[in-house]
Amino acid sequence: QTDLLKGKRGLIMGLANDKSIAWGIAKCCHEAGAELAFSYQGDALLKRVTPLAAEVGSDIVLPCDVGDMESVDGLFEALRQRWGRLDFLVHAIGFSDKNELRGRYVDTSRDNFLMTMDISVYSFTAVVNRAEKLMTEGGSCLTLTYYGAERVMPHYNVMGVAKAGLEASVRYLAEDLGKDGIRVNAISAGPIKTLAASGIGDFRYILKWNELNSPLRRNVTQDEVGKAALYLLSELGSGTTGEVMHVDAGYHLVGMKAVDAPDI
Ligand code: NAD
Repeated sequence: QTDLLKGKRGLIMGLANDKSIAWGIAKCCHEAGAELAFSYQGDALLKRVTPLAAEVGSDIVLPCDVGDMESVDGLFEALRQRWGRLDFLVHAIGFSDKNELRGRYVDTSRDNFLMTMDISVYSFTAVVNRAEKLMTEGGSCLTLTYYGAERVMPHYNVMGVAKAGLEASVRYLAEDLGKDGIRVNAISAGPIKTLAASGIGDFRYILKWNELNSPLRRNVTQDEVGKAALYLLSELGSGTTGEVMHVDAGYHLVGMKAVDAPDI
């Protein structure tokens, strides 16, 4: 428990259930004293998000489908009316047709390519654009990415191309907003079993491979991503912007299978 985010107001986007990376981040922010608001996609998630929000002392639970700009505008207008100001934003959203998160990247359809880019890349730019107007005293924006942006991962396919675009967006957004004291960063999280991850082909194999071959010889947890997020969202990260921070038990530096890793 700290007061690193005491008096700060933050919006968390992408909470689906208690396995979500957004939940690990929300808990850490709450323990650090932040006031939180949540957005959810679709009515089915409202009944899941409302009790989780209550657990971290929030009754601000607002609908937002990031594929619909009216919905995005509605979310930020509601926040403006409720809070007037925003200090931080967490974007933990990504989506692609799971039929294309297996097999070959070269077979990606145009429709799914465009949809994946819209939901997983453009949406971050769209929400940062709205958040900027509420971040009148500076702020910090954070998104979630994966190593599949930098290296080819089995089955990650179009999502890897999307994450590469997302990471480039982080750098352009950081330059645009730096003058106003708004920082923009990403966390590149190691594989974690969540709803979104279960759509990726052979995800259990990927988890096991990372566990056996990462320098820490284990996978990371939602809470560990939460702690790194706290650094980037709070005063601790005041000198850091445009950064893609790996929270992956060190997996990104590995060049070869570990000598002690058994065959799987
Ligand atoms: P999750 O399923 O818990 O969260 C994904 C969220 O995206 C859900 O809340 C879903 O409602 C939301 N979403 C999808 N389409 C949306 C839309 N049109 N409008 C609004 N919200 C929408 O899974 P997660 O793993 O916590 O994913 C969060 C982020 O972390 C994603 O960007 C994901 O790519 C990234 N990430 C995940 C892992 C992992 O292994 N789980 C690793 C690195 C990065």
